[in-house]
This record gives sequence, structure tokens and C-alpha cells, in this order.
Amino acid sequence: MVATRKKNNPDIIGVLDLQGGVYEHLDHLQRLGIAGRKVKRGVEFNNLAGLIIPGGESSCISRLLNIFEIKEPLLNAYGRGMKIWGTCAGAILLATKVVGETPCLGLIDIEISRNSFGSQLDSFKSEARIPQVAEQPIPLTFIRAPKIVNVGKDVKVLLKVDDYIAAAESENILVTVFHPELTGSLEFHRYFAVKCGLNPTVNIKSCSDRQWNYCSWTRLARSA
Ligand code: GLN
Repeated sequence: MVATRKKNNPDIIGVLDLQGGVYEHLDHLQRLGIAGRKVKRGVEFNNLAGLIIPGGESSCISRLLNIFEIKEPLLNAYGRGMKIWGTCAGAILLATKVVGETPCLGLIDIEISRNSFGSQLDSFKSEARIPQVAEQPIPLTFIRAPKIVNVGKDVKVLLKVDDYIAAAESENILVTVFHPELTGSLEFHRYFAVKCGLNPTVNIKSCSDRQWNYCSWTRLARSA
């Protein structure tokens, strides 16, 4: 259950540990056989193949990035080649344009509109086929989600639904407005691991939904 890596590439994916769904992502990485670790201090951004910015509350995570003074080390690590995946609030933090607000990290050329489906009560589940990511339909969980309303020319759309874009990527950044870590699916985590130059060794078909339940991540939180 260990990840192999390309030469000279660090083989760890960090999960930004300020607020939000940290353990849920760590749980999915572990299931894939990828080494994951929580990241909260400046030095911890060194030597990561990738970083996941989890869903949660973007205004809160943005404030904590400033309070902990880790925006700069994060941006420096990105400059050295670390890939980044933002889920939901994470996607908001990575956008170059946030409707009506000042952007935070501004690393991917997308325009995003917060809370665009309505309140927390308007959260919903659906599924979609995303050919670049998996052959089978992927379950999608939207929680007070934003909508990506525009992407720049160097950004590839992975999933468009009705009037909004739900997943997109540039060369070094992946953004999803939904939460793969809150479903049994490992497909997006595998997709991101491969983008980071890692090679998950676990056969994805052996990690079926039946082995996963929505609170299986709590074992990691208890042992932390
Ligand atoms: N509504 C949150 C925000 O604007 C994002 C919600 C989420 O990450 N599920 O930051």
C-alpha cells in the first residue's frame, strides 16, 4: 500500500489543516496508498508533491492563512512545483476572481461565485460522468457550493452542468466545487495523485463504496 514516485519527486500529499474537511481527505489518500499529512506551519510545505485545500469556510481559512503567516510559504512551495487541489472553499481560495470579493491566493484563472446554490439547506447530491477522471459516473456532493462562472484560456473544464462549471484544471491546479472526500469514490484523489507525479498502487476497483462509510475518517481523527 505505498505509492511509487517519479524520480526526484517527493511522494507526500499535504492537506491544509486550518479548518474544514481535513481528515476526510487524509482517509481517502490512505485508501489509495498515498502518504498524506496535515500541513499547518510554514516549514511543512517543503517537499510536498501536492497540497489539498479542503472544503470548509473560505473566509475563515483565508483569515487563518494570514494569522498563521503561511500564505508566503504556500506560494513559494507552489513556485517550486507543488500541485494544488482546492475542493469547494479551497477552489474559492485559489481563484483569481471571486464575485464581489477580493481573491485570496489567485493561482488559477477562474471566476467563482460563492454560495451560488443558496443556503446550507440547498446542499445536494448528484452524479456525473467525467471522462478524463473515470469511466464510471462519479458521485458528487455539493455543500453550500460556489459556481465557477468563467475560466481563462489556459484552464480546462472537466465538468460543466447547466450554467456553471463544477470542475476545472490548469497545468498545476485542480478545482472542484463538490466534495469527493465525502463520498466513497477515490477517483478524484487518484486523478490528483497522478497529476502530482505519483502512482497510486491500490486498485481503485478494490475500494468499493461498500467498504467505505461516511464517518470512516473518524478513526484517523481519534489517533491524531
Ligand atoms: N460556502 C463556503 C464558502 O463560501 C464553501 C462551502 C464548502 O466548502 N462546502 O467558503
